[in-house]
Amino acid sequence: MPDMWIAGAAASGSGDRMTVTDPATATTLGEVPQATAADVDHAVGAARDAFPGWRDTDATKRADHLRRFADVLEEHRAELVAGLVAEQGKPVLEANGEFAHFLAGLRFYAEAATKVRGSYQDLPSQFGRSYGLIVRRPIGVVGAIVPWNFPLTLLANKVGPALAAGNTVVAKPAETTPLTTLRVAELSADVGLPEGVFNVITGGPETGQALVAHPGVRRIAFTGQTSTGQKIMETAGPALKHVSLELGGSDPTIVLPDADVAGAVKSIIIGRYWNCGQACLAPKRAFIHADVYDAFMDDFVARVGRYQPGPGSEKPEKPKLPIGPLHTRAQRDLLEAQLADAVDRGAKVLIGGEALDGPGHFFQPAVVVDVPADARLATEEVFGPVLPVWKISSLDEAIERANDTTYGLGSSIWTTSASAIDRAMRDLQAGVTWVNQLHYGYDEMPFGGTKMSGLGKEHGLEALDEYVETKSVVVGGLS
Ligand code: NAD
Repeated sequence: MPDMWIAGAAASGSGDRMTVTDPATATTLGEVPQATAADVDHAVGAARDAFPGWRDTDATKRADHLRRFADVLEEHRAELVAGLVAEQGKPVLEANGEFAHFLAGLRFYAEAATKVRGSYQDLPSQFGRSYGLIVRRPIGVVGAIVPWNFPLTLLANKVGPALAAGNTVVAKPAETTPLTTLRVAELSADVGLPEGVFNVITGGPETGQALVAHPGVRRIAFTGQTSTGQKIMETAGPALKHVSLELGGSDPTIVLPDADVAGAVKSIIIGRYWNCGQACLAPKRAFIHADVYDAFMDDFVARVGRYQPGPGSEKPEKPKLPIGPLHTRAQRDLLEAQLADAVDRGAKVLIGGEALDGPGHFFQPAVVVDVPADARLATEEVFGPVLPVWKISSLDEAIERANDTTYGLGSSIWTTSASAIDRAMRDLQAGVTWVNQLHYGYDEMPFGGTKMSGLGKEHGLEALDEYVETKSVVVGGLS
């Protein structure tokens, strides 16, 4: 495994070494350097040198490269999935899901690479015929900063549109999940990607900060916590860099009396407990109408009781359901503190809620009721397998409470009423509203938050737009 990947080759960093551990067993999986400012400069230099050639490469050839990249990675599916399970902690089933989504993301932008279009505009002119062209040009070097919860899909969301549009990339995976990304970079050598087009550096916040601050980086694509996004804005703002920020969320889900309650239960469980609750777009606050509250809760709590925490590589006997560990001890400590705060203020835990003994950061998934509106479980992002549920008596009440958060990433509603759907679509303050659907990020649809959940979009052709600048060209002298 390379230390880092710069200019189409393994590169060793000059900074201190960091160990990478398996969150289920606490065993050491490897170590990587903490890239220094000099290492960042090396990687950005390589990406900068590669930019003109890649920008001017025929779009069909760029598409071929991306397609081949996905094909080569697919040939190494088993190894990469095992890598995700080991360093991130998720069960094999979920790692396979992430890997499939990762490839689909790369392939979506391979298709899109050949469809970047400009436009034409007739212009008024006193000096003979004239017209305007609006052309789309790649921006330059993209710094792609990725968190640990979905190391590969969140990489594809940035690398796919960036390369498709003709930019070059320096990616920085999270400090706790760099190994699979480094292997992906190493496999890029088999694809024939020109050197310097895709680089990977390793390290934590300081390395990320150096990447954001580097004058050679023109575009920052970031996914992570809201507080980190704010720091990135502070650095990138004065340099007027292009920035997209995919940040935290506290998605509400609303279930009305005319809903398919069984369908809602299944989807909300997958949404909330997938990836051990560590998903930005998970339903994190549930508002269930009084008329279906008991039916919903009976089914929901029974199903949550089926989760059996364990290493991602192990599969429990049916009807038990697999759930991996929290990614770090700090994540689990935070979750326990948020839950304890709610209980201290009178909340009731209906099931689960215990941290389990052992070297892994395991936690029994929980469902909580009677959570005061000012408790941390209601006001903060809960990045773990705990769902607070509230009984509501009207759609008005549900929408008001759903919007009572600083976040605005996703939201969902379960109902067959056209007017309730219309109301949710217009009034829920979020970047996405799913109607009778699982919270899921489709490659085809733009995804991103409002309020403190971020700026800009990933996914869809809209994301491709965020990796180009438009340039107006005015043409005259024709007659
Ligand atoms: P984080 O902000 O701590 O770290 C994310 C990445 O940023 C890591 O690579 C980290 O090393 C780097 N980083 C940290 N400080 C930095 C700085 N000052 N400058 C530059 N880079 C820096 O986030 P995390 O805890 O790893 O990830 C979990 C968070 O990500 C959650 O809040 C979750 O909701 C959010 N998330 C959002 C989306 C979305 O699409 N909106 C998707 C997944 C995760």
